[in-house]
Order: sequence, then C-alpha cells, then structure tokens
Amino acid sequence: MLTEELMQISAKAQRVIDTEDRYGAHNYHPLPVVLERGEGVFVWDTDGKKYYDFLSAYSAVNQGHCHPAIISALTAQAQKLTLTSRAFYNDVLGEFEKYAAEYFGFDKLLPMNTGAEGVETALKLCRKWSYEKKGLAPDKAKIIVCEGNFHGRTTTIISFSNDSDARNNFGPYTPGFEAIPYNDTAALEKAFQDPNVAGFLVEPIQGEAGVNVPDDGYLTKVRQLCTDYNVLLIADEIQTGIARTGQLLAIDHENVKPDILILGKALSGGVLPVSAVLADDHIMMCIKPGEHGSTFGGNPVACKVAMAALEVVKDEKLAENAQRLGEIFRSEMNKLIAENSLVKLVRGKGLLNAIIINDSPESKTAWNICLSLASKGLLAKPTHGNIIRFAPPLVMTESQLYECIEIIKSTLKEFNK
Ligand code: PLP
Repeated sequence: MLTEELMQISAKAQRVIDTEDRYGAHNYHPLPVVLERGEGVFVWDTDGKKYYDFLSAYSAVNQGHCHPAIISALTAQAQKLTLTSRAFYNDVLGEFEKYAAEYFGFDKLLPMNTGAEGVETALKLCRKWSYEKKGLAPDKAKIIVCEGNFHGRTTTIISFSNDSDARNNFGPYTPGFEAIPYNDTAALEKAFQDPNVAGFLVEPIQGEAGVNVPDDGYLTKVRQLCTDYNVLLIADEIQTGIARTGQLLAIDHENVKPDILILGKALSGGVLPVSAVLADDHIMMCIKPGEHGSTFGGNPVACKVAMAALEVVKDEKLAENAQRLGEIFRSEMNKLIAENSLVKLVRGKGLLNAIIINDSPESKTAWNICLSLASKGLLAKPTHGNIIRFAPPLVMTESQLYECIEIIKSTLKEFNK
C-alpha cells in the first residue's frame, strides 16, 4: 500500500518535511507526521490533528508532554541562572545530587547530558575502578556487553554494537569489549573466567532490540555472578528506568542493586538532555578533578528540571500506574492474538511493550500499520522491521488506554484480511 492510501499529508506538513529533507542530514526515517504541540498523553500536528503519543520520545516523556510542574521549574530557573560550568559551584547542583542520590539509594551522582554520555561515563568509571581498586594491569580491562544491545551512538558505544547499521564504516572500533548472548548467565559466567573482566553492562530489558524481556531471575543471577567474580554490574536504565516498567527501576522487579546505575531520558521528563551516573563512594571516588566532565553537565536548569521530574513520578504514582495499565494492555493484546494471526506475540513490562508482527522484518507491514495508526490518531514506530513498540506517557488514564486499545485492535483487524 502507498503512504497516501494509509495517511494524508497536508501541503503544509509536506513543506516542513521537504525542508528537513533538503537541509538536514538523513540520519533518521521519521513517520510523516509534523508535530507542533504536546500536553500530557497527547500531541498535535501542524494541521491541528490530535494524536495519542505511544512512543513518548523513546521513553523520555514518561511524565507526559509539557508537565506543568516540570515546565514551571524550567522557566523559573531559566530566568535566574542557566549555566556556570563546573569551574564554579552553583546553588542547585548539590541539592539535586543529594535529592537523586537518596531517591535511588546511592552515595553519589555524576551529572551528564545525553544518555550516551551517561554510558561513556559509566564505562570510564568502571575502567578506572578496575585499575585502581581491582588491580588490573594497565589497559587490560574488559567490559562484557550483550548481543542486541543499544547504549547510544558514540564511537566507543557503537564499537560493541552488533547492529550493522550502527557500526558499518564507522571503524576503527574501541577495543576492550566482549559481547555475549542476552539472558544467558552460563555465557556470562564463562566470560567471567577471564580475570581482566572489569564490568558487565546490561539493559534490564533490551528496549531498542524490540523490548526483549529476560527470564525471571536473570538479573538476580547476574548480580550474584558479578559479586562472586568482583565485576561491576552496570545497569543501563536510560530507557527502562523512572517508572516505565512498573517499578522505579526495572531492576527493582528483582530487588537487585547495580554497582553503577545509568539514567537519562525521563530524568528530565523529556524537557532537556539530562543524564546521570550513580554509584557508591568506593567506585565514584575513583574519578578525581580534571579526569572527567562536561560543560553543561549539572547545570542549574537541568538540576531543577530533574528534581521536578522525579517529584512528579512519586507524587503521581507513575510506577504503579504503569504496572496496572501494562497488565491491561498485554491482556487485551493477548486476546487479540487469539483471533488475529497477524500478531505473533506481545511482550513487555509495565508500559514498555511491543507486539511482533507475523511478517518478515523486510516487509513493510509494521511500517504500514504505524501509518494507519497515525491516521486514526495514535503514534507508534516500528523497530527492526516487524516489531512495534508501545510506550505511552505514564500519566495515561485507564479509559484513555482502552480507547487506544480499540484503535490498535481495529487497525490490526484491517491488516489481517
Ligand atoms: N541506552 C539506552 C538503553 C537507550 O535506549 C538509549 C537511547 O535510546 C541510550 C542509551 C542513548 O541515549 P541518548 O539517545 O540520549 O544518547
């Protein structure tokens, strides 16, 4: 089917798309929808059409678009002091560090901006710890990662990706990483036989890979192995964290505490790039003045926004809401699967879910379904060809969710002819 048959693009929207096409690098392939406003679970396009947002900017907008408490923190601080760099103290960073360290139960926090910078920070911290505390010989540290991982786009991070689009022609790659299968503790223990292993970097649920949920008990066993082999457990909760999966952190489903926690995205409610690495003193104090930093990391606007964003998560009980609505979503999708052969599987936790379309990743079925969903007022995006991720803002109400389920069901029925 042609795009025009599945959704209308106005001349006004087309002009915006054409401008981006002409002047912007082609490093994304967006759905042809041009958004100009957002509020809570809704976004509006340039023609005034209203949509349910079922992506939440890849789980950055957990608190809903333009949450008034977060925007008010943003504007108040923006009128007072925006940036000092870390050459001087500002009167908000310490308050944020204390607030977030206590909120997540760690001694200290290191502030950064994007998720990828948070991951880079964690990798550097782990390497530093391995030389200064674990006693590895210089430049020998190895960090174990998982196949199918997604941790960002820097040169080092793509060095240990096995996604050919992310890697090809971007070499030479950073050494010091080994990939093992996800959800495989036997492979992890085998990798740990190398005494130079410093850390294990893992997503508690692999988001970009298509919402891959590991077996129950996986993270508990991972924690045990890391402790036994004196290897740092580094949890990348950039996508899964901050209430998305029905707990504050996805690792909380198994009551596991990582040695290093990486947060991003919803740490600011999608308002600014704010990321953070948290660890206890025996790890964090390995980094000394001048050894790592960022001009914008820890700026007062980011700190105020992040505190407001975390307050919203607590005040509005977003983890509980995600847990409850997630159960409804998967149960309704499973009913659909029983009568619709187009959907193979639904998987996820809380409000981080995906359906697998019973078609090859090369087919355009999932893309076309997303176009049709958009025309009916619901925005979602395929990943890896035949997987559609469903991750609405966590401020969604039960009746809104049922309305969305109806849109999804009716669309999938149309494609099941
Ligand atoms: N880690 C995970 C698990 C992610 O899902 C992402 C982004 O999708 C990142 C890291 C990178 O974050 P950013 O795009 O803010 O650099």
